[in-house]
Amino acid sequence: MPSSILPLVAKQLLTDIEKSYKERSQLPDDLLIALRSVFGSCALQALDLVDQRSVTCVSSPSGRRVFRVLGGSGQLYTCFTSCHYCPCPAFSMLVLKRNTSLLCKHILAACLCQAMGLSQQEQVSDQDMTRILSGQAHTDL
Ligand SMILES: [Zn+2]
Repeated sequence: MPSSILPLVAKQLLTDIEKSYKERSQLPDDLLIALRSVFGSCALQALDLVDQRSVTCVSSPSGRRVFRVLGGSGQLYTCFTSCHYCPCPAFSMLVLKRNTSLLCKHILAACLCQAMGLSQQEQVSDQDMTRILSGQAHTDL
């Protein structure tokens, strides 16, 4: 996890998940329980997104990388796991305004997919990446 602002316990948990998933290709119950106690209800929703393969890791030749997460409503969100930002309403409400959550289900799903190596991979040109980052390509990619 590069330059993370997540609390140490959350980071450690993702590291444990990565290790455990590599060894056994599944998540043991204790990690699932830990995930739930750290991230609350958004943990289960994030795991659903992972199950549905809703996360795509988009990378460009220059090494930029973002995650695109298909939300339950069919909306595509561009998430940055490096700075933990997501443009969804839940993120601005629960994370930025009320400060009651660490992150939204989309970012958590992206972090989990990254840890477990389950995200779909997509290569785009640097030009397309710039369009994605500037928010001009929400639907046409
Ligand atoms: Zn979100």
